[in-house]
Formats: sequence, C-alpha cells, structure tokens
Amino acid sequence: MKDRKSHTLVLALVVPCYNEEEVLKETIRQLSAELKQLIHDEKISPKSFVKFVDDGSRDQTWDIIDSNAQENPLVKGLKLSKNEGHQNALLAGMASVEGKCDCMVSLDADLQQDPKAIARMLVKYHEGYEIVLGVRSDRASDTVFKKMTAEGYYRVMQLMGVELQFNHADYRLMSQRAVVFFLQFKERNLFIRGIVKLIGLKTTTVSFTSGERFAGESKYPLKKMLSFAWDGITSFSVLPLKFIMWTGFIIFVLSIVIGIHSLYIVLFTDEAVPGWASTVLPMYFMGGVQLLAIGILGEYIGKIYKETKGRPRFFVEEEIE
Ligand code: UDP
Ligand code: MG
Repeated sequence: MKDRKSHTLVLALVVPCYNEEEVLKETIRQLSAELKQLIHDEKISPKSFVKFVDDGSRDQTWDIIDSNAQENPLVKGLKLSKNEGHQNALLAGMASVEGKCDCMVSLDADLQQDPKAIARMLVKYHEGYEIVLGVRSDRASDTVFKKMTAEGYYRVMQLMGVELQFNHADYRLMSQRAVVFFLQFKERNLFIRGIVKLIGLKTTTVSFTSGERFAGESKYPLKKMLSFAWDGITSFSVLPLKFIMWTGFIIFVLSIVIGIHSLYIVLFTDEAVPGWASTVLPMYFMGGVQLLAIGILGEYIGKIYKETKGRPRFFVEEEIE
C-alpha cells in the first residue's frame, strides 16, 4: 500500500490541449493557484505538478506551455508530433506521469470542469478509493442539443450493455496503481471512460458544477463527437452484430413461411399471377438489409485491422520534466 500521508502525496494533473492558446494562460494560472493552495494546506507534496499535453496544436499552445514551464516549476509539458485526438493525448499524458506521482487527475484545458473538485477527489483518495469519477451535477451551460445528445447517448450505451457513469466525462482521479492497470489496455480505439469501468478497484464519484468554456471554441465539433460516440459503441458492444444475426434469422423464417404460402397458391389455387411487387420489392429489401449488415461488419473488421497492425498510439516529440 502506498503511503497516503497527505504532505508527501505527489499529485499530477494531466491536461490535454488542442489549439487552446486563447484559454491556456488562464488555465495555467488557475491550476497553479489550485496546486499552490493544496500544497500550502499540506494536502499534497510540493513535488506535485501539472502536465500539459499539446496534442499537435497549430497555434501558440506549445510555446505557451514551454515558456511557462521555464519560470513555473509546477508546469510540465509533453508535445505530441501531431493531432491524435483527445483520448490519445490523455493516454500519452497518463503514460508520461506513470511512476512519477502517487495519483493523477485528468481534466480539460478549457476550465469547464471546476478545479475546486480536485480537493474533494483527494479526500476520497485518502478514504481509500483508487478511482474517483467527476460527475457533472448540471448541464446548464450546455446547449439543448449537446445536453440531449449526451444524455441520450448514455441511455443507448446502457441498452447496449456498456457500463458507463452517467454524466462523467474525463475528469477523474486515478491512483498510481489504477494508472498502471489502465496502461495495460493496448487498444487503439480508445474510449477511456469505458475502460476505466473495466479496471475495477475501489471507485466512487464526486460531483461538480460545470461552467462555460473560459475562452476559445469547442475542439469537439459534431463530426468528432459522432465518431467518438460510434467508437464507444463499436469498441465496447457486440450488440450491433447480434442485431444483424437476429434480423437475418427473422427474415429467413419469414421467407420460408412466404415460400410455403406461394407453393400452396401454385399447387392448390389458380390465382398465381406473377407480380412485379413480389419480385422487385424483396430484391430491394434484401439488398438494403445486406448492405446494412456488411456495413456494420465492416466497422468491426476495420477495428480488427487497426488493432492487428499494432501501430504506436503516439510519439513524444519533446518533454519538459
Ligand atoms: N482536445 C485534444 N485533442 C483534440 C480535441 C480536443 O486534446 O483533438 C482537448 C481540448 O483541448 C480540451 C479537451 O480535449 O482540453 C476537451 O475538448 P473540448 O473542451 O473542446 O470539448 P467539449 O467540452 O466541447 O466537449
Ligand atoms: Mg470543453
């Protein structure tokens, strides 16, 4: 068991940043202030730090991280060679702090997640929890569209048999051991909040209120959001495959029934008029069903393809320790 004495506890904050120049200075200011306060209150060790992961930004993000790291010992940075997406950037950050801290908290760069909740997560850590999930207690700052799609998504995932914490994004505390376990998941289609549920260990939640983005625009446009949601489903649920099987089975049974029926018409009645509809409609119908089925299969095969290639998930270009 790790030493859980407060003032020796090294906390690492991991913050993925993609084109966040507009908000980053304020984020560095607020997170440093938060760490300083926690250090002052002897809740964490002065060796604690924030690791900013630049996810291949095309703006001043890395320069801001770099220059702040020169003068602020709490600030460390990691620069990925290109944009790998939020989940991979977070993974890179977690891999880079592994072994250098007692626990880590991941949070977004845009200050939407109240940093004050970190202190409450630490309290839970001291109570013996190894994973503490930040759960939004309101979605007032979200557009109606985002709120509805996000909440609908949790419901769909639940129906698909995927265990997720309702209203939990990637604001969470993990013990050093939980991070080590997490890093053993080698999948390329990363859906971290799903994997966290597979780790086990003592888990609890802490609620926080979420505000507006401090500055800048969302780095999750609808396209990225949809692909993230789809990855979550196809990386964690085989229900779509079962759905194809059952659709196929039902159509198969139906076609046998219709076959017997047409045989009856031909043999015992003289109403057997060759019809256009009965020939053409099933063709369209079957064509559609088959395309759908092949499409879904392709989605999974695409994932197998990516996994078998075993490509590296990120490259660290530079690191400031
Ligand atoms: N992000 C990233 N890489 C990306 C997209 C986003 O590292 O390709 C980071 C972004 O900088 C932020 C976090 O992921 O720290 C969440 O993004 P954002 O706040 O834009 O998403 P939203 O809150 O709108 O869902
Ligand atoms: Mg945000």
